Amino acid sequence: MTPGLPSCLLFEHHSRMRIPPTPFALLFVFSLPFLTNSQDHDTTHWFKGNTHTHSLWSDGNDFPEMIIDFYHKNGYDFVALSDHNVLQIGEKWMDVAAIKKRQRAIGRDAITKCEARFGKDWIQWETREEKKGIVLKTLDQCREVFEKPGEFYLLTAEEVSNMAKGGAPVHINALNLAEVIPAVKDKEASVAEVMARSLGMIAEAGEKTGRPILAHLNHPNFQWAITADDLAKVAQGGFVEIYNGHPGINHLGDATRPGDVEVWDIANTIRIAEMNLPPLLGVATDDSHTYHGGDVSPGRGWVVVGAEKLDGDSIVQAMQGARFYASSGVELTSISFNRDSGELSVEAKPEDGVEYTFDFIGTRKGYDAAAEETGIGEVFVTAKGNAASFRIPQDALYLRVTVTSSRRHPNPSFPGQKEQAWTQPMGWKTK
Ligand SMILES: [Zn+2]
Ligand SMILES: [Zn+2]
Repeated sequence: MTPGLPSCLLFEHHSRMRIPPTPFALLFVFSLPFLTNSQDHDTTHWFKGNTHTHSLWSDGNDFPEMIIDFYHKNGYDFVALSDHNVLQIGEKWMDVAAIKKRQRAIGRDAITKCEARFGKDWIQWETREEKKGIVLKTLDQCREVFEKPGEFYLLTAEEVSNMAKGGAPVHINALNLAEVIPAVKDKEASVAEVMARSLGMIAEAGEKTGRPILAHLNHPNFQWAITADDLAKVAQGGFVEIYNGHPGINHLGDATRPGDVEVWDIANTIRIAEMNLPPLLGVATDDSHTYHGGDVSPGRGWVVVGAEKLDGDSIVQAMQGARFYASSGVELTSISFNRDSGELSVEAKPEDGVEYTFDFIGTRKGYDAAAEETGIGEVFVTAKGNAASFRIPQDALYLRVTVTSSRRHPNPSFPGQKEQAWTQPMGWKTK
């Protein structure tokens, strides 16, 4: 088995022996749902979290504790501060002038807001070389304030910000790591090569520390750096951002280049049909940088993970087992896949005045890559309402669902955005 691939997906298709003897295993072995929600299952809890956020520790414009406070107040169960090439460990002193310059303030500034929230004595002022500055809070200091077992968790994370030929950004979020993983900066190397090297280093860090580390490839269309071919080829890669709330990452593609979700379908088609590899799993994130009225704000994209416990190992293992969905606003109350009949059923939370559209999407064997409607990522059927079911066609390589709400996104990252949710690809087989 290739390391880093979602083990439960492999389990589903290959061997029943690999699943540990947990209640979740029973779910997979005996029950028909591929995934089901917590209401009818004691040990699985559904946790909402964002795995991609930036603070003053790198290029975000707010204090880590203020950013965490936003997620804590807004119904999230976990959040990862994923600063570029750094963990919030040790000491970081910042010149006040640099903080103020960073925030492009609208309204009250970051310092005033932080003092209002945590009190006048909270901020650690320190003058260095005659410059007035602030020592930023570490992740551990933030844990003391916010973490509560089973209620709120801070996932350690780094956006490993690699660079390939031509300066192409190859950004990979490593979640649940213990120490900084250095970025690969090699202007001679191809994007695929840099991806493979960085993912190899992340896997090594996991082995060394004995912690399950999850790596997700970020914003493939940012500077048009990563193609579906690149994503397909990197065998260790198990996860990719299919929605990222940063408005500058070309989420929708352009006239000649596919959007992030289409990139996902193309890469998965290549992986299943041509490379005998499992599909990539899709995550939605914020990639928030601005917290004072700027346009790279938090609250746009997240994952909902079915895990036994609210801690780093459990969240990562659940995601590796494909027990999660991605969302930019739609809440799903049930996802089930019957392995015998191939039927996929999805339910969204009913809301007054909201209608959902369920698009059942996949690619057929013998697909024509050039065909607009029957090629890669074909919409097999569209249904409306609060729930929908569809049986995977005999000749389909996989089946997934995009759920789109009739409601506009309250804080859109692109014009006309509607709230959505995406299930993982199901019903795929490798030889
Ligand atoms: Zn990035
Ligand atoms: Zn980022």
